[in-house]
Amino acid sequence: MKNNVILLAAVALIAGFSGCSKKDNPAPQKPTKDMAGCQGYASGYANSGIVGAANTFDFKISQNNQFFAEEVGIQRGFWNGIPAEVHVLYEPAEDYRNAYASPDGKILFGYEMFYYLVRSFSKISGSNNLSPLPVDGVLAHEWGHRVQFTVGWNDYTKPSYRELEADFFSGYYMGLAKQWLWGQIQTYYNAIYASGDYYYNSPDHHGTPQQRLNAAYAGLTTAVYELNNNVHYTYNQLHSIFNQKVHDEIGARKSSVFPEVVYPKNLDKEKIKQLYPTL
Ligand SMILES: [Zn+2]
Repeated sequence: MKNNVILLAAVALIAGFSGCSKKDNPAPQKPTKDMAGCQGYASGYANSGIVGAANTFDFKISQNNQFFAEEVGIQRGFWNGIPAEVHVLYEPAEDYRNAYASPDGKILFGYEMFYYLVRSFSKISGSNNLSPLPVDGVLAHEWGHRVQFTVGWNDYTKPSYRELEADFFSGYYMGLAKQWLWGQIQTYYNAIYASGDYYYNSPDHHGTPQQRLNAAYAGLTTAVYELNNNVHYTYNQLHSIFNQKVHDEIGARKSSVFPEVVYPKNLDKEKIKQLYPTL
């Protein structure tokens, strides 16, 4: 629907870490830690990487810095009452690519993760342009975890529900803030989820790729319902909707064919903003 495709530079630069040359000073090797999942970040380990400054983004290419800063600004304006200090995380190697959210208010967006998403999932067939959707979607997923931490829900009966709800929020954001069509979202989310690379895709912890897609679709259709009916939801109401849907629509739906959503005509920006979620 929207042609808000931006030009991301797909060139992956090798991160030029300063102070990485340790030939003269063989410090004792720090242990590594399994930081599986996007809530598992821990500092102080050999694989923790280097956390960049808060809310300034250095992806080594200025147009990418600008793209990311703009998207963070848009999401900060969307997620009312949900603070997040956003940092670039310079992972120690591509294998450690990830994005994280933490209870203490941070979102760490991996440098390697960023370029992995751009390289692997952002290409638009028949075009030299790249889609912002994969990066936007991952950031919205992490902000969804910040919602969970901030409001303080702890009623998840399975570990995967926390992750599926973050996917639900990601789809919700894509509908309410950006009015993407499902066909566009599905192309990208399906590739990311099915790759098994995103958050170490273990069904126990993150749901199956089908469930993750179902969750994003449920979030999107919730946003489209709000737009079509001029209904506003608080975070707690959205959480209840997710909890209702997680058992059937999200947990059990097996078809990869989803009905396309229909947005109202003549959407007004100010009216849409009034529907953004609140505490
Ligand atoms: Zn997550």
